[in-house]
Amino acid sequence: MDKKIAVIKGDGIGPEIVSEAIKVLDRIAEKYGHTFEYDQLLMGGCSIDAYGVPLTDETIERCKAADAVLMGSIGGNTTTSPWYKLPPDRRPEAGLLKIRKSLGLFANLRPAVLYPQLAGACPLKEEISSRGFDLLIMRELTGGLYFGERKTEEINGVMTAVDTLSYNENEIRRIAIKAFDVAMKRRKKVTSVDKANVLDSSRLWRKVINEVAADYPEVTVEHMLVDNSAMQLVKDPAQFDVLVTENMFGDILSDEASMITGSIGMLASASMNETKFGLYEPSGGSAPDIAGQNKANPIATILSAAMLLRYSFDMQAEADDVENAVNAVLNDNIRTGDIMSEGMKLVSCSEMGSCIAEKI
Ligand code: NAD
Repeated sequence: MDKKIAVIKGDGIGPEIVSEAIKVLDRIAEKYGHTFEYDQLLMGGCSIDAYGVPLTDETIERCKAADAVLMGSIGGNTTTSPWYKLPPDRRPEAGLLKIRKSLGLFANLRPAVLYPQLAGACPLKEEISSRGFDLLIMRELTGGLYFGERKTEEINGVMTAVDTLSYNENEIRRIAIKAFDVAMKRRKKVTSVDKANVLDSSRLWRKVINEVAADYPEVTVEHMLVDNSAMQLVKDPAQFDVLVTENMFGDILSDEASMITGSIGMLASASMNETKFGLYEPSGGSAPDIAGQNKANPIATILSAAMLLRYSFDMQAEADDVENAVNAVLNDNIRTGDIMSEGMKLVSCSEMGSCIAEKI
């Protein structure tokens, strides 16, 4: 297959970790006979330095012309970098919001995987962590409480603030379809998270989820209240496959889920639109404290590239191959500094990328 990938390396450790993901993608292309063409683009601080803005219209157009986007991370040290003396809409992070909006990315996919080899980093009790877990939180990204009408006003001398949680059935249906499609490529279970005992928006959410579920007879569906979900995530995370939820619920639960894996350098993510198009990036930031030192963990970015293969290119065997290679390298006791423990072999960012590519 011939595919075009827009590549945004970004700032800080971005160029280091993305280069390793490309090393792995090149190995996949070689093994499976694909051609991946990379269009290198600037966003964030490096784009401010080159063009005066964090994201240019040309970058957006070239992303749209690609089959998927692979991104590193953007931003710098928020206290010392001159980028943060600029007005908020010209700072590096403004590029992130703009690109998500311009590409219509409404579904955020955040897998949280506990590798048995790294169970020591998991803050949960051993009886829970020893079972491992592999779940994915799908968060609605462009509606709900964060995008509803809001106002602050004085009523009868009392300051009053209002935020609105609003969803229409079409917005719910498109994220539901995405969740069930993703579940079909995983363990075929969807947990829809809501607060249907209180909120009207959640009752509509539940109704639409059930309608969409009827088109996916192979997928088991369950509904869970958000407060219970927060508890279940720490009590028994292994029960979950795909959790789909509203914007703010997803914001909170995905951070909780990433915390219980214990290692930011391992967390992949994707944001997708209605088609197979998506933007794939590690969950962490640009880590200015270790940038340029060849110390960063490239695994989150490599696993994001595996998601790109699976969800945007429908390359299941290739994606499995990358994930198995990561597992094999961990089994060989090879570690970057962030996941290092006694008795393991410490490697650099580029060595980790090479070790994973060699396992493919
Ligand atoms: P951060 O995630 O960059 O760093 C937090 C800690 O985790 C640091 O100690 C860092 O060294 C470590 N870390 C992160 N990724 C790592 C990796 N792959 N390997 C090893 N260690 C890793 O968060 P921060 O310090 O709060 O933010 C730094 C900059 O990143 C800021 O400018 C922030 O706005 C930006 N940021 C960007 C994104 C994005 O591009 N999507 C996301 C979050 C933060």
